[in-house]
Amino acid sequence: MRERVSRQQTTQQLIRELLRQRPAAQPVDLKKALNDDGIRVSVDEVIDYIHGVKKTLDETEQVFVAPPECQDCGFDDWDNPGNIPSRCPEKDCRSERIAEPEFTIRGPESGY
Ligand SMILES: [Zn+2]
Repeated sequence: MRERVSRQQTTQQLIRELLRQRPAAQPVDLKKALNDDGIRVSVDEVIDYIHGVKKTLDETEQVFVAPPECQDCGFDDWDNPGNIPSRCPEKDCRSERIAEPEFTIRGPESGY
């Protein structure tokens, strides 16, 4: 049990550092970076970790989200921009070609 907790903390810390280093990261990019480090996570888990990262930041840093965008009609007014939608909610569109949201941390340590 203790091992599981520390592994999760490490993964969360890695994601926090990746978000600080990059101007914008899609969950799939973070997943690839973690897989390269030998950490197996799904895109959904990456999003869960990002929500966890938010709680670890002090008031000088913030997680910013660029919402997902429909590749066909440009819709980006999602109720929850931090999730990956499966299809466009627009009545005449319903496209499944949705660009993933992009996350970044901005604050004194991010350097941009
Ligand atoms: Zn659409």
